Amino acid sequence: MSLTIPALAGKLAGLQSSAIRDLLKLTAREDIISLAGGLPDAALMPRERIARAAETALCDPAVLQYTESSGWPALREVIAARESAAIGRSVPVGEVFITHGSQQALSLLAEVLLDPGALVIVEDPAYVGALQVFRAAGARIVAVPLDSDGMRLDILEDLLAAGERPALVHTVSNFHNPGGVTLAPERRRRLAELAEAHGFWVIEDDPYGELWFDRPAPAPVASYSPQVIRLSSVSKILSPALRVGWMIAPERVSRAVELLKQGADLCGSSLTQQITTDLLTDTTWLAAHVDAIRTTYGTRARALTTALRTTFADRLHCTDPTGGMFIWAEFTDTTDTTALLPAALDAGVAYVPGGAFAVTNTADNSLRLCFTTSDEATLTAAVDRLSSAIG
Ligand code: PMP
Repeated sequence: MSLTIPALAGKLAGLQSSAIRDLLKLTAREDIISLAGGLPDAALMPRERIARAAETALCDPAVLQYTESSGWPALREVIAARESAAIGRSVPVGEVFITHGSQQALSLLAEVLLDPGALVIVEDPAYVGALQVFRAAGARIVAVPLDSDGMRLDILEDLLAAGERPALVHTVSNFHNPGGVTLAPERRRRLAELAEAHGFWVIEDDPYGELWFDRPAPAPVASYSPQVIRLSSVSKILSPALRVGWMIAPERVSRAVELLKQGADLCGSSLTQQITTDLLTDTTWLAAHVDAIRTTYGTRARALTTALRTTFADRLHCTDPTGGMFIWAEFTDTTDTTALLPAALDAGVAYVPGGAFAVTNTADNSLRLCFTTSDEATLTAAVDRLSSAIG
């Protein structure tokens, strides 16, 4: 009897494995300084404080039980209070939905908000985790480039004037991954106005907003319109292993997300949500903890930009990060960063070629550098190695 091999769903046809994840496998080598990973520094994660919170949490048998799909009630209260302060209006608990990292919010929202073929506007370069989700949802993806003030709203307006009707616009408003830039306050207001005028959703994907170096990030896009669904998580301030993220969305969106979450995983972890509740309510400790991360990342970011400018001068333009984890750099000559990567790995340094994040622009001469996991001397050595790879 001949075998008939069952098919996968047709909507998966355009999916590829993340180039970054494939690359990460190569950069695990001890002799390579990796600026590729995009990970928060594990040395700055509060292991002892988490252990204490876990011990306390385990005194309550409920933390080992299933919880509500929308999240551990105490955590939803805490997030409602924090987000009320950030957004500048009173956010009811019913608008807070806890997810398995903000990545799950992206994935559930794509199912709730997108019909196959729906138009999704993303930034170019884009967060690859969002691209994967929107591609899997069968969306038609159109990219709007970034400049130093974030998404080019003039280009978005041109698209709208040409008759494009997006179902949603995805933006990483603060300290962009991978672009390193922050959406300017005036553009935030305008984006919200456009969403209301043209009837599209905005997903404000903001996992980095707390990681500012010198001054807090501008008011969220969500502070300008309820049509902006705001996502964040504790991955970059506490630990990604807690897998605690959240979404602030109108209740009709949250209710639809709830039905899908029930099907996806029933509920998040009561244990890690209670640990997160404990840490987020220990406000004096939290302020000092987040401050230490800001200081360390800020020092590292400055060390990396200084080394890049000293070494490459006009040959390389790089962003001046004001927060977050990334620098986006562009060679001003014909250096092809994908072609250069094998030589860079031989020289002992890894980065992600810009092409991995490109949607329409090819970004052949660009690269993303993550400064979070190396100290200043190591970052300077990494730039020396990059320079020797270029020759
Ligand atoms: N959005 C952006 C822009 C990210 O960079 C990331 C992770 N690096 C996420 C969402 C997902 O993070 P998490 O699921 O850990 O909250």
